Amino acid sequence: MNRVYNFSAGPSCLPLEALEKAQKELISYGSSGMSVMEMSHRSSDFQNIIDNCEALLRKLLNIGDNYKVLFLQGGASTQFAMVPLNLYKNKKTDYVLTGVWSKKAAKEAGRYGDVNVVASSEDKTFSYIPELSADMFSKDADYVHITHNNTIYGTRYTTLPDVGNVPLVADMSSSILSQEIDVNKFGIIYAGAQKNMAPAGLTVAIVREDLIGNALDITPTMLNYQTHADNGSMFNTPPTFAIYMCSLVCEWLDKLGGIKEIQKVNEYKAGLLYDFLDSSSMFKGTVEKKDRSLMNVPFVTDSDELNAKFIKEAKENGLVNLKGHRSVGGMRASIYNAMPVDGVKKLVEFMKKFETENK
Ligand SMILES: *Cc1c(COP(=O)(O)O)cnc(C)c1O
Repeated sequence: MNRVYNFSAGPSCLPLEALEKAQKELISYGSSGMSVMEMSHRSSDFQNIIDNCEALLRKLLNIGDNYKVLFLQGGASTQFAMVPLNLYKNKKTDYVLTGVWSKKAAKEAGRYGDVNVVASSEDKTFSYIPELSADMFSKDADYVHITHNNTIYGTRYTTLPDVGNVPLVADMSSSILSQEIDVNKFGIIYAGAQKNMAPAGLTVAIVREDLIGNALDITPTMLNYQTHADNGSMFNTPPTFAIYMCSLVCEWLDKLGGIKEIQKVNEYKAGLLYDFLDSSSMFKGTVEKKDRSLMNVPFVTDSDELNAKFIKEAKENGLVNLKGHRSVGGMRASIYNAMPVDGVKKLVEFMKKFETENK
C-alpha cells in the first residue's frame, strides 16, 4: 500500500514514525497484553501515557507551572462556549474576526454576554489580519479572543496584539506546535488536536490557573475547566487512544529537536510554495503576504475549470485533498508538521509541470 501526500486541512496527516510505532503497539501495548484502546483509563499503563503526553507538551511549549494542561473532548467548537462560561465576570469581551472560526466563536460567546467586535477582515474575504493597537481593546473586557491561524483563509498572526492585563485567549487549532510561542502571553490556548497533534477526538486546553474556578453558575459540570483541572482530565473517560497518539507525535517532535527545529522546517516548506506562487503566471496566493500562514496555503488559478483539472490530476499523482474550502474556492494545501518536505517539493514540481502543460 502506497501512502499519498495528504494535504487535508483536518483531520490531517500524522508523522509516519508515530503511526508505525502505534502499529507495532496496536495489539499489545508494552507488557500489558492489550491495546491502548482496550485499557482502563484508570490503569497505571494509561496514567503513564497521559502523564508522558502532558510532560512532553510542557517541554515542547515550555509551559509554566501556573498553567494547567487539560485533555478534553468536543473539539475547538466546544471551547467556543467553554471560554465565555468560565471567564465571564463583567460579561463583556473583545473578539477579533479573522474568519469562519472566529465568527463562530464570537457568536457562541454572544449567547452569554456582550461581544464587542474589535476588528474584522471580512470586508476582503478574511484575506488579511487587521491592524490592532492597544487602544482598540476594552479595559474592562473579561478576555480578548483571537484565532491565531485561520485554517480556511490561510492567514496567521505574526505578532500578538497588546491587550494589557486582559487575558488573551487563542484558538490555535491549526498552529499549535508549529512555531515557537510564549505561552505566558496567553490566558488560554486551545486546539482541536486533529490538525497538528493527534487524530480527532481530543481537544487540548492550556489554561492559566487563576482563570479556573470562576465559571458562571449555569456552566454544565463537563464544561467547567475546574472539573477537569481537579481530576487530571479524568473526571470521565478521556479520549484515551487520541491522547496516546498525541504522545507519540510529541515524542517525534521532541526527537526532531522540538518546536524551534520544526518551525525552521515549516518556514522552509511554506517558503517553497509561496516562492513558487509569487513567480507563477497561472497560480496565485489569496492572502496578503505579510499575514501568510505557515500551515494552510490557499491558492487559485483564474478559471474554475483549471482548478478542477488541477485537483483531479494532482490526485492521480498522489497529491490528495487539495480542494479549497467552499468559501474560498480554488485549492488549499495544508502543510502541517507531519507533511514531509518531499511532499511540498512534489507539489511544487507538479504545479510547474501543470502550468507548462496548460498554458
Ligand atoms: C478546525 C478548526 C476548528 C473546529 O475544530 P473542531 O475540533 O472540529 O471543533 C476551530 N478553529 C480552528 C482554527 C480550526 O482550524
